[in-house]
Amino acid sequence: MTTLGITGGIGSGKSTVAALLGEKLRVRIVSADDEARRLMVEDEELRTALIERFGADTFLEDGSLNRAELATRVFGDPEEVEALNAIVHPAVREELGKSIRQAEKDGIDLFAYEAALIYEIGANDLVDAVLLVDAPLELRINRVMQRDGSTRSEVVARMSNQISSDVLRARADFVIDNDGDLAALQDSVDSLYRSILDK
Ligand code: ADP
Repeated sequence: MTTLGITGGIGSGKSTVAALLGEKLRVRIVSADDEARRLMVEDEELRTALIERFGADTFLEDGSLNRAELATRVFGDPEEVEALNAIVHPAVREELGKSIRQAEKDGIDLFAYEAALIYEIGANDLVDAVLLVDAPLELRINRVMQRDGSTRSEVVARMSNQISSDVLRARADFVIDNDGDLAALQDSVDSLYRSILDK
């Protein structure tokens, strides 16, 4: 089994690439975002740590995460963001290890982990290679504005604390330049898939 991390800045197209790869046979895709969301609700230790640090309002009465409350607490405050990450990231990383072992047992050929933050959580050490999906900044901004109905300044603010494209490109093992249409992206995914599994 080959394990691949898929990363990229917001709007680069990494979720789209993950979805296209996921259509192939014996490929398993895990999303770090989905995993973090699930763990924050299901993992008792994580819940307790979050409540201790951010208060009982972190969760709603039905046990679901109070995303709005948590976002208000940490937004624009680097210290609070760091505290949240210090609680959530180790749990997410540990879960990635488990998912990889499970995929191996299940006879998966390619396990791909889609995450905006690969290096920040140390997920790069757990996978064989990292794929960066990249696109010119303006295109990324426009895609996110369209996808989320956000304003330009909201998108730019969300981009501001992400690692720059240049640094990500230097660290990645594979790069897909997602600056064409969806058919072009499909071609890039197909050839990447072939080159990974031909190895
Ligand atoms: P990310 O997960 O990196 O934030 P997404 O995969 O969600 O990015 O892509 C951002 C938006 O751009 C989505 O609405 C997606 O459908 C669209 N998109 C991605 N790649 C292309 C492309 N090559 N052509 C047209 N639209 C695209």
